[in-house]
Amino acid sequence: MTDATMSLGDVTLDRVDEWTGKLFTRPDLLPDSDRQAWEAERGWLEPDFWSPDSEDAWLCAQSFLVRSGGRTILVDTGIGNAKPRPGVPPFDHLDTGYLDNLAALGTRPEDIDLVVCTHLHPDHVGWNTTLEDGEWRPTFPNATYLLPKVDFDYLAEMAKSADAPDPFGYVTTFHDSVLPVVQNAKSQLWDGEEHVIDDALRLVASPGHSPGACVVTISSGGEHALLAGDLVHHPMQILDPGQRNALDADGETAARSRTRLLGWAVENSAPVYGGHFPGGRGARISNAGGAFRIDSWTSL
Ligand SMILES: [Zn+2]
Repeated sequence: MTDATMSLGDVTLDRVDEWTGKLFTRPDLLPDSDRQAWEAERGWLEPDFWSPDSEDAWLCAQSFLVRSGGRTILVDTGIGNAKPRPGVPPFDHLDTGYLDNLAALGTRPEDIDLVVCTHLHPDHVGWNTTLEDGEWRPTFPNATYLLPKVDFDYLAEMAKSADAPDPFGYVTTFHDSVLPVVQNAKSQLWDGEEHVIDDALRLVASPGHSPGACVVTISSGGEHALLAGDLVHHPMQILDPGQRNALDADGETAARSRTRLLGWAVENSAPVYGGHFPGGRGARISNAGGAFRIDSWTSL
């Protein structure tokens, strides 16, 4: 527990910071977005979420550390160190103190019981593995890795076409961050609409950004939270859930998933933790005529 730890009934939530920076401009991130709509929200978007002059939309990479039912659970594992990602220069051969940030929360890699990946893109599975003696080995030796089967199958199929273009490193990621934990660690590929982790935690399918994407819901002692992964890349997608992300596999399906699960968050007064919101804060939201508004932010 730290000053920033969020308690939800019997569950605690912490954030493991990895990286914050510029990856996309507003129109590159959300191609249908309207600058005027962003200008209207400039008071809170600037400086954390948007730099109006350069149009940079700021993002972070991070994990959430969840303690529930006696287990220590890591949700998403960021970009990882030393991963070759030439198509995405800010992620290429990254060297961060992610494991030190985990240690600052009193947690060593061997303490992690379960790793949950909300989907299998390069910025959500990176720390699944660490480079040791030239090989990618599971970073969390005692963990079970819980991965969406639909994404696994999708990437396995993609990986069969060795010559296909792979600008975002999906296939490279499959080989250096996904296959090694399926082959050399305990792993579970889950499938379907929902997967129950324990009394407080469940995975809910939220397809669209990737075919097998999911969110994590936390419900304990009458309190709730939504770990949204890439259901929302940027908080402006809460205000306008129809906004697709440039990298969505299926933008319309993603928008339907977003509206449905943000509705769950409203019904349950659950703060929404985006996978890439700088600072890792959760948005407390309410209905706003078919869309949503952000009423306040949690400190974590
Ligand atoms: Zn992502």
